[in-house]
Amino acid sequence: MIPAAFEYASPTTVDEALQAIADGGEDVKIMAGGQSLIPVMRLRLAAPETVVDLSKVAELKGVRDDGDAIVIGAMTTHAQVLADPLVRQFAPLIAEATETVADRQVRHRGTFGGALAHADPAGDLPAVALALDAEFVVAGQGGRRTVAAADFFVDYLTTTLAEGEILVEVRVPKLGDGWGTHYEKFQRVAQAWSIVAVAAAVRRENGHIAEARIGLTNMGPTPLRASAAEAALAGAEASADAIAAAAAHAAEGTSPSSDLNAAADYRQHLARVLTKRAVSKAAGL
Ligand SMILES: Cc1cc2nc3c(=O)[nH]c(=O)nc-3n(C[C@H](O)[C@H](O)[C@H](O)COP(=O)(O)OP(=O)(O)OC[C@H]3O[C@@H](n4cnc5c(N)ncnc54)[C@H](O)[C@@H]3O)c2cc1C
Repeated sequence: MIPAAFEYASPTTVDEALQAIADGGEDVKIMAGGQSLIPVMRLRLAAPETVVDLSKVAELKGVRDDGDAIVIGAMTTHAQVLADPLVRQFAPLIAEATETVADRQVRHRGTFGGALAHADPAGDLPAVALALDAEFVVAGQGGRRTVAAADFFVDYLTTTLAEGEILVEVRVPKLGDGWGTHYEKFQRVAQAWSIVAVAAAVRRENGHIAEARIGLTNMGPTPLRASAAEAALAGAEASADAIAAAAAHAAEGTSPSSDLNAAADYRQHLARVLTKRAVSKAAGL
């Protein structure tokens, strides 16, 4: 279908983009790569008065080193994230998850920031951002603010982004010595969305797990941390048995949906199995 008519703005700076949003009327939509937005406009599930296209805003693109963190611009495409040496070195979990996102064409147009701002619970990057304790830098007319990943995802397809705000970049802390990470995704066919997936970051110390952070994909209306499993892992021996015992808690506090792909209880089973695998691999077992 053809989208309803809309005004189009193509700013070249964040300030211009904020102004275009302010001037855009009642219903303004920000567009990144259009990979999620254009399909809903074609179905006329969204009919914005104005589309503000961020594709010419150079300051939103690329990855930079910022000392104890790497910073990924919101308009960096999935393909650029995958090709980036800083991501490979300091945040391999992001590269590993991004490799599983859709196909080459979508990865060429779709963006890191767009995938996070869209906040699809089946999306692969929100759970990764949670596991890495990433921080989101958001710009609005009143200035900039920083939001922890734990506070960014509010509800189904809903983030803390207010009307008129732009996600500018995401700060990802570098993991130091002893950390290992792994992304374990269960999908029916290659290049499909996750039925369930688990992002694990684990710090080993003296044969034990000192700290574990586990992000769950598609286990509720928002991405979630598997807090009970994390607590069970803290201080546990880095052994297959201890990890299996902790992973048994992975579905606690989750509320996955039932759909054509999987019933809720099957998703909870998958969360336990995938957590065991993801934590084991992250811990080097
Ligand atoms: C066929 C197909 C398969 C896919 N498979 C997967 C998959 O397996 N795993 C996965 O994780 N994802 C998957 N995706 C989604 C993909 O990851 C896209 O990155 C995602 O759809 C976002 O697209 P985009 O960056 O083009 O954002 P857009 O579609 O342009 O925008 C998406 C939403 O975010 C808002 N937005 C975008 N950028 C900003 C910003 N900087 N600030 C504020 N708001 C913003 C827009 O207003 C819009 O509401 C798939 C997409 C397609 C089309």
